[in-house]
Amino acid sequence: MNRVQDKVVIVTGGAVGIGRAACTLLAREGASVVIADIQDDAGRELAERLVAEGLVATFKHLDVANEDEVRAVVDATYRQSTRLDVLVNNAGIAGANKPTHELTVEEWQQVMDVNVKGVFLGTKYAVPCMLKGGGGSIINLSSIYGLVGAPDIPPYHASKGAVRLMTKTDALLYAAQGIRVNSVHPGYIWTPLVEQLAKEAGQEPAAFRRQLDAKHPLGHVGKPDDIAYGILYLASDESKFITGSELVIDGGYTAR
Ligand code: NAP
Repeated sequence: MNRVQDKVVIVTGGAVGIGRAACTLLAREGASVVIADIQDDAGRELAERLVAEGLVATFKHLDVANEDEVRAVVDATYRQSTRLDVLVNNAGIAGANKPTHELTVEEWQQVMDVNVKGVFLGTKYAVPCMLKGGGGSIINLSSIYGLVGAPDIPPYHASKGAVRLMTKTDALLYAAQGIRVNSVHPGYIWTPLVEQLAKEAGQEPAAFRRQLDAKHPLGHVGKPDDIAYGILYLASDESKFITGSELVIDGGYTAR
């Protein structure tokens, strides 16, 4: 209990999937959570649900690729609490699933705007707030596909590789000022993002899920909570000696 008591946390893409699980866990462990997402209905519903539990949560509309919106959400959070302790750069999209030579520049750019520019903008505006407070923790959602390759969704894999190294650069840049920056590398987690991949592959969700299960040595895909517990650890002071690291939570996928 109370592993992140009174910390002020922004979770981008916090309305559904991994972000939703992270918001829920962080709030239950004492954080004041800002759920920031383009999914307004799901985000508001989650905030209401958490507040009804007696927890501290608010929803703010945010497109992480829009600089004005990122600045506004970070500024409003800081003005309200006069602190920002944790930023979870979680929002991400899979993007077009085509071989590289068939992709359009627009399809490539769409993924880079959300998955890479979104992490840059979140970090850019969170860091000055964290510096004023003497430190903080930034948690960037990369992927197993920021560590190893796969013959599909090329912009996604490129974006997650970028997030892995952006994390290390920022970890080194801000270590002396007490800001820790780490990346999380999930295997397949059953979320709306992965359900969408099943639809796009024209497969029944159950059959698609069985194929994904078989890719993981532990025999199954993960659940959003599996990742949320890693995020909670990196958000808490329990991880105070960890920066620039890669937290792999993948059922053994990358162990081979
Ligand atoms: P998800 O189920 O699609 O949830 C992500 C949330 O972010 C959705 O509400 C989504 O809205 C929102 N979002 C999309 N674009 C946004 C933007 N520009 N600004 C703000 N919010 C935006 O995804 P997830 O599976 O939970 O994944 C969360 C993170 O983990 C992503 O970075 C993903 O790449 C990473 N990850 C996931 C898996 C996995 O297997 N699920 C594995 C490795 C890494 P829409 O629904 O409208 O897009």
